Amino acid sequence: MLREPEALRSHTAEAHRRGRTVGIVPTMGALHEGHLSLVRRAAAECDEVVVTVFVNPLQFGAGEDLGRYPRRVAEDAAMATAAGADWIFAPDVGAMYPAGFQTSVRVGALGSHWEAESRPGHFDGVATVVVKLLVLAQPERAYFGEKDFQQLQVVRRVVADLGLGTEIVACPTVRDPDGLALSSRNAYLGPAARQAARSLWSALAAGEAAIGAGLRDPTLVGQCMWRELERDPLVHPDYAAAVDPATLEVPYRLAGAVRLLVAATVGGTRLIDNLGCWATPLGLADRDDSGPIATEAARGGLLHAGGRPENRSQG
Ligand code: AMP
Repeated sequence: MLREPEALRSHTAEAHRRGRTVGIVPTMGALHEGHLSLVRRAAAECDEVVVTVFVNPLQFGAGEDLGRYPRRVAEDAAMATAAGADWIFAPDVGAMYPAGFQTSVRVGALGSHWEAESRPGHFDGVATVVVKLLVLAQPERAYFGEKDFQQLQVVRRVVADLGLGTEIVACPTVRDPDGLALSSRNAYLGPAARQAARSLWSALAAGEAAIGAGLRDPTLVGQCMWRELERDPLVHPDYAAAVDPATLEVPYRLAGAVRLLVAATVGGTRLIDNLGCWATPLGLADRDDSGPIATEAARGGLLHAGGRPENRSQG
């Protein structure tokens, strides 16, 4: 177990001197199968794997769950090692951000909407810690989950913009059998909230089905998902949108790759999820949303244009 940033730097530098490739898996700990899928992938593709366990205060806003975020480093280390990690880097906050620390990475447009609207400064905090980890470890590859899709796109952008040279590897979302994406925050859910949390997956499935049935208006797809989220009184939707995966903007029409994004507070716990799907060109129907799906979506009493009361799915 490495505790000091300099120890991480020297261990990975030594690995490189020996001609070995290094993969890094940044986490906040409380590891579950989702994290472990990243570790296994890294172990399959790299000679040495570092799993970082650090609850990064910079990415939490005031009133968020920084204080109660689950912390169990010894258990995490055992699980990560069993999945193929060679090193666990678990620094204290003071080691990562010593007195006088005052530098941060400021993310552009990709980090300014969706999650950022509810969590201002979140992605700057993520970007700052990720850049610091990548600069210290200089890994050939870094593994991130699609579960946090906006984070993944932000990290890709930051690494490209700053020329860090690490390959960002995206790993698919691991889910419970009923569709709920694994998350350390699922531990906060009581039985009723856990049941209600399935709505996120139902919403994504509804969005995908609507696109599969020919809906190409992103606002109507967002409304479809929002309505599905609202079905359960324990679920308070935050946003539901169909976006361009590269820019995270809502396009005029859906065509080609689409990323469905949802966020909701469920019994007091904020959860996010997303799903990639494909909008095939439809010819004539592509220009007409008056078909049965669109009509059904419109009939659903949709008060929240764009998936949010204030029409936020317009980007
Ligand atoms: P976290 O500890 O929540 O910061 O997550 C650390 C990494 O694990 C991030 O890249 C997440 O996207 C990824 N991750 C979290 N949950 C899952 C999941 N259910 N499936 C795949 N990756 C995940």
